[in-house]
Amino acid sequence: MPLLDRYGRVARDLRVSLTDRCNLRCSYCMPPEGLEWAPDDTQLTDDEVVRLVRVAVQRLGVTGVRFTGGEPLLRRGLVDIVSRVRALEPDRERLGLSVTTNALGLSRSAQALADAGLDRVNVSLDTVRPETFLKIALRDRLHDVVDGLAAAQAAGLGPVKVNAVLLRGINDDQAPELLAWCLERGYQLRFIEQMPLDAQHGWDRSAMVTADEIVSRLEERFTLAPAAEPRGSAPAELFSVDGGPATVGVIASVTRPFCGDCDRVRLTADGQVRTCLFAREESDLRSALRAGADDGELATRWVTAMRGKAAGHGIDDESFLQPDRPMSAIGG
Ligand code: SAM
Ligand code: SF4
Repeated sequence: MPLLDRYGRVARDLRVSLTDRCNLRCSYCMPPEGLEWAPDDTQLTDDEVVRLVRVAVQRLGVTGVRFTGGEPLLRRGLVDIVSRVRALEPDRERLGLSVTTNALGLSRSAQALADAGLDRVNVSLDTVRPETFLKIALRDRLHDVVDGLAAAQAAGLGPVKVNAVLLRGINDDQAPELLAWCLERGYQLRFIEQMPLDAQHGWDRSAMVTADEIVSRLEERFTLAPAAEPRGSAPAELFSVDGGPATVGVIASVTRPFCGDCDRVRLTADGQVRTCLFAREESDLRSALRAGADDGELATRWVTAMRGKAAGHGIDDESFLQPDRPMSAIGG
């Protein structure tokens, strides 16, 4: 049973949030005081996470699982969850496993994650200046991220990707510097347009740094050309840098949405299926699971949920409404 929606798209890429908690406070994501974390009894246990991923992989055609959050490295059972999910499908061509992380503590867990069967990591890093890091994330932890990136690469969790968000007046002038830093180390940098997903509702369409602007900033120092490889359902538009082979990506979620090619589906840490980051409805698999549903019923509920997937997120429409849950509670 594929996860087919009404527009003919098939979801094969599952994002699993393992917690809504985080140890940074990136201003585009979370307020300085943090959020009220979800109660423990609403969170899927490790067994429940593995069970739902098993349904997705063995019954619903999912071929990629990305663990995210909040901050997934805060989930105590992460290494064990990765190893149990890897055991469901040992063939890495058939099932890719990755983590999106802020990399705090990754220097200690990268090798264990690789040994457990993880393929890749995406690390979020918006600046390589300690003072700007502190300003954006409100914690003085740049050195941890730098160490985490190096450990991930040494553990073979590559190609290591770096995700960056540019904020006007804070780090938008640092795009070329960040790219140079990533190129020197062999990390693949991708810029993400800031989206209206922060709990504080501070997003401002007129102030956000657009993809066109990001490219112009980079072109002040580098020569960019559209990369030859086809994009498929990948959200990043890739550009070769200075003739290649290095590339840089730009994820223009707001100004050039790629919803028509979307192959994602999300599972929140409290067991809700979300068909889109911007969905206004969720389907409750946790209650069904805890009420004793078997794998077949869980799969049927998941397939039904996909029928509600919207054609697009409509961020640029007048009628757009920000989802009730912030990015950290959905799973970015
Ligand atoms: N804590 C992990 C991390 O930061 O990588 C995983 C969760 S985080 C929500 C996932 C990704 O979402 C990060 O790359 C982060 O930069 C991005 N993100 C968070 N809020 C965003 C926003 N309002 N617009 C665009 N990207 C955002
Ligand atoms: Fe935490 Fe990631 Fe949100 Fe930053 S983007 S506050 S690291 S969840």
